[in-house]
Amino acid sequence: MSTLRFKVVEEANSHKAIPVNIPIERPQQYYGKYVFNRQKMFEYLPKKTYAALVDAIDNKKTLPREVADSVAEGMKQWAIDNGARHYTHWFQPLTETTAEKHDAFVEHDGKGGMVEEFTGKLLVQQEPDASSFPNGGIRNTFEARGYSAWDISSPAFIMDNTLCIPTIFISYTGESLDYKTPLLRALSAVDEAGTAVAKWFDPKVKHVLTYLGWEQEYFLVDEALFSARPDLVMTGRTLMGHESAKNQQLEDHYFGAIPSRVEAFMLDLEIECHKLGIPAKTRHNEVAPNQFELAPIFEEANLANDHNMLLMSLINEVARRHNFRVLLHEKPFAGINGSGKHNNWSLGTDTGTLLFAPGKTQMENLQFITFVANTMAAVHRHNGLLKASIMSATNGHRLGANEAPPAIISIFTGSQLAEILNHIVKSDTKDLASLSKKTELSMDLSQIPNLMIDNTDRNRTSPFAFTGNRFEFRAVGSSANCASAMIALNSAVAEQLKEFKEAVDKRVAAGTDLTSAILEEIKVILKKSEAIHFDGNGYSDEWKEEARRRGLDCETSVPLIFDAYLSPESIEMFSKTGVMNERELKARNEVKWEMYTKKIQIEARVLGDLAINHIIPVAARYLSVLLDNVTKLQNVFPGDKGRELAEQDIYTIQKITDHNKAIQLEVAEMVKARKAANKIEDEREKAIAYHDTVAPCLDKIRYHIDKLELMVDNEMWPLPKYRELLFIR
Ligand code: ADP
Ligand code: MG
Repeated sequence: MSTLRFKVVEEANSHKAIPVNIPIERPQQYYGKYVFNRQKMFEYLPKKTYAALVDAIDNKKTLPREVADSVAEGMKQWAIDNGARHYTHWFQPLTETTAEKHDAFVEHDGKGGMVEEFTGKLLVQQEPDASSFPNGGIRNTFEARGYSAWDISSPAFIMDNTLCIPTIFISYTGESLDYKTPLLRALSAVDEAGTAVAKWFDPKVKHVLTYLGWEQEYFLVDEALFSARPDLVMTGRTLMGHESAKNQQLEDHYFGAIPSRVEAFMLDLEIECHKLGIPAKTRHNEVAPNQFELAPIFEEANLANDHNMLLMSLINEVARRHNFRVLLHEKPFAGINGSGKHNNWSLGTDTGTLLFAPGKTQMENLQFITFVANTMAAVHRHNGLLKASIMSATNGHRLGANEAPPAIISIFTGSQLAEILNHIVKSDTKDLASLSKKTELSMDLSQIPNLMIDNTDRNRTSPFAFTGNRFEFRAVGSSANCASAMIALNSAVAEQLKEFKEAVDKRVAAGTDLTSAILEEIKVILKKSEAIHFDGNGYSDEWKEEARRRGLDCETSVPLIFDAYLSPESIEMFSKTGVMNERELKARNEVKWEMYTKKIQIEARVLGDLAINHIIPVAARYLSVLLDNVTKLQNVFPGDKGRELAEQDIYTIQKITDHNKAIQLEVAEMVKARKAANKIEDEREKAIAYHDTVAPCLDKIRYHIDKLELMVDNEMWPLPKYRELLFIR
């Protein structure tokens, strides 16, 4: 048992001591404590069961039923030994959060008592009775059954005294109703296509693995202030609030000293992460005040994604222990940076080669260029889809603002990689092939490692950047399930690699040697996908025009961006790779449009209420103070003198009256727009109406409220202001 030591830190406002539970043990002693990892499996499972389970995990086999029973028995024992009383299938429906339904281990013993029981059947498959998860019409009520099935590649864990079993969630008819199912399919598609290509360079390769290292940005707000802001409570963002006089303009928050109260929270969070096997490693302040980041060491993508989903629940829980609330919303505050979740993505072989890292030999470098070029080709071909994969009502607030994601997907390579790619495109393939067989020649492929040593020209404006040994998909939103982006990216790359392999094979069959065939084909795809490469300023207006000329997707309306999922190229790509069929894609888009509408609808209702019930009455109260003042001034100083003294108040009275009136009119307008939109049956059309007619009202109303905030007596103002929300000391 761990002994606890207490660290006392100062709380910002009250100077109250906050105890932090720091285990006396070192991280390696509690790391993975609540994970049924191989070490626990070995300890709790019979030898034969252990071997069969590990074999099934490593070789992607299905688990025989007898083995499942034996695994369930061992897993239950381990869970009970660690305080668990319940178990749940833990899955990722299309709501961007996780879902769980807890069952206790108890069963009747037939003698009036209870036994703790857990069988292979319960471990492997369940039928969640809730038919209310978003499903885009796939599960209408008469076929309401959905199944959750154990994903053995992600280990079970204990959270809140409950054994959680990571599962996929599919409909009775086999369609995916979650993020994990298509993610696993996409990873397996890229494995298959990537392995076929990687075998050219190393015949020993059996698998290509996908790695993901996410960087989670978030805001912290004091719990009491959070509770006093109904907009934060209900929508996760501030729907009003004038900019604070000081925000991020001094650039003093990024990498600055972490406030002690926050540090205590971070430490607590890291310890909880480590107990759950999440390899949290980096923490720091972000650009905006009260904004922070946590990043783990990268892992295999499916596990990394589960860990991110887990982190998003954990971070909320731990924050509340410290009287904080976490905001995972992409844009909780206007006028300062929003939050994203960079997805550092790479491919690697089971023989240990990172495929986006330059190697030591010419063939390794040719392999590196092969995978980079194919990624560029895939991103080019599906740039609209990749944008759709990161898009949501909440991330839409970052679109086109001066932070990733710009509304256009492009790839930053940096000058050194660009030079190499350019050289390949321009040179005669035969020369290049013969060069690559020799050793020390300029621009010989073996030069790449020297060239790549320094990768300093990193471009923060790019939504998709090469960063030395990986690509960073930066456009992903902070509240998103990373799987969405990972599904689109890996499927697109799988399709591209498969076609590349076929094209090279054709050249080889026609008599070209393999190296030349690969180089020839690289040239073809690089030329075709030139348009995706952009190293300049992604936020500039010139780029928007340039991108349009290049034929890149420049759509900015969130509901229309989703259309990219249903383009003929997307449907073909997802079906060829076996990731999703057309019915699944259509259903998912229904969900996306519906979610978009609901988010804006809730915001519109909350803002309408706040404007009418909170803001206008307070402004009116202040108005009456001013009117009173004017009357009194004129009583005391009759005539011109009184009029002159009251001038400023009269001006303010006029202003407040104007804003009040404008708010009332705009709210009425918004209600009208909402009512009209609500009548629309078609989810896509409805979302478009919400985007075009309801969402703009939010900004107009806010404008007037923010003006009032600057005029009305500070003591009367009913909501905590930005300057109070944003500075934890
Ligand atoms: P940044 O400067 O962008 O904050 P970091 O050094 O903090 O970069 O790393 C960000 C993330 O990238 C970490 O999660 C790290 O583990 C991950 N990462 C590093 N190399 C790879 C790789 N080859 N594939 C995937 N993720 C990686
Ligand atoms: Mg990064």
